[in-house]
Parts: sequence; C-alpha cells; structure tokens
Amino acid sequence: MFCDIHAHLTEEDYKQDLPLVIERAKIENVNLIILVGIDIEDSKKLIEIIKKDKILYGNVGIHPHEADRIKEEDIKKIYNLLKEEKICGIGEIGLDFYKNYSQRENQIKVFKELVKIAKEFNLPMNIHLRESHREGLKILKEINYFKGVLHCFSGNEEILKSAIDLGLYISYSGVITFGSERLERLLKKTPLDRLLLETDAPYLTPVPKRGMRNEPSYIKYIYQKVSEVLEMEIKELERRIEENVKRLFTIN
Ligand SMILES: [Zn+2]
Repeated sequence: MFCDIHAHLTEEDYKQDLPLVIERAKIENVNLIILVGIDIEDSKKLIEIIKKDKILYGNVGIHPHEADRIKEEDIKKIYNLLKEEKICGIGEIGLDFYKNYSQRENQIKVFKELVKIAKEFNLPMNIHLRESHREGLKILKEINYFKGVLHCFSGNEEILKSAIDLGLYISYSGVITFGSERLERLLKKTPLDRLLLETDAPYLTPVPKRGMRNEPSYIKYIYQKVSEVLEMEIKELERRIEENVKRLFTIN
C-alpha cells in the first residue's frame, strides 16, 4: 500500500470532487493519507473530512505563511483540536524565509509555541522549512524535541545529516520526479528507516502529471521514481515506508 503523509485536501481545488479524489486514491492502492492544516479554520475543516473515511488521518497546525495574523488565543485553540479522533500530529508548522509571507519574528514565535505543544503531548510534527533549515533546527534544539518529519525536503547534505542525527524523518514530494541529480543524491543518502513520501497535493504535481492539479493517487509516480533511484523493488519500498509512517505517527 501507498501512504501520503502530507496533503491539503481542504483546498478549494477539491470543492467539486473530493469524494472522487479519495476514491481514486483507494483504487490506486493509497490506504493512508495524512491531511495537514494551515490554520485553525483549516484544521477544523480537515477534522470533519477525516471523519468520513477510514484511510484519512489529520495533523492540525498553523503554517508559517499565516503567522502574521495569528493571535495568542489562536495558538491555544490547537489544544482543543488535538483531542479529536485520528489527529496524529501537529502540522503544518515551520519557517519559510523564502516567500516571507509573514514576518520572520512572527514565524519564529508561532513555530516555537507549536513545537512546545507537540513536545507537551509527545506528538510528531509535520515541518515545513524553506531557506530556514538552520534556524528551524536551532529552535528544535532549544526546545529539545525532534519527533517529526521535514516535509518536502529541500536542504543540502549537511542539513540532511544534522536532521538525521537529531532523529528527524525526511519526506520527498513530486519534486523528486523533476530530474534533479542533487535531490536524487540526497534521497540516496537518506536512511531507509527515516524515509517518507508525500504529494503535498494540490501542489507539486509529479511527472507525468505536472501542470495539472495534484492529488493523492499520484503518489504512485513518486514511489516509482524513488524505487528506481534507490534500485529497490516497489513492494519493498511500500513496506518500509508504511512501517515508518505508522511508527512516527503511531497509527496501527
Ligand atoms: Zn504543505
């Protein structure tokens, strides 16, 4: 079976056909999808969606892009959402110093608060770091909590090594199908017991669907590419990834 650890199925893109999108995922052997929230409203929305289907799980969080408009009480609201069924982690959280849609100091503040909550509940984190790996890892070290995954990994070899040494998992998205030798080298250096895969749907659509809306059923293209790069049977890759997902997010 395929697992997708990071999808935004609350997006407008799926307004017309979400049940079909989920059906297609099942037909393509995707049996576990983790939806991630970008703010409180979005997290509430995904809680409703995951109730409807047993293959769906959720992470609730506040995306760094949203940090500027987040108030202290919004962060506190996360506590209530964590009580909901099938919420198996905190995300999407992190820092984005590439787009800088929110001020860096606000991003840092919100990220720190959410890492502390994850630690308090011993929950895994679905982490977004873009042009901010050093700062992000520094915060995790300050708080001394490393249970989580760097989603859509875009760091370098040094960052990869530090993240692995700290105990983090590394997730690759459809970007791995774009033909970057650099990213393929990083994939090969990622220990198999820390490897995860994701679509980040509706974004980052893999080849050969590039240019279209992404959806969890396309994760098969990512598995295919990764199995080629690692010269590994796809069934074996499926088995290893499933183990990793269930271990990190404590899913039975
Ligand atoms: Zn995302």
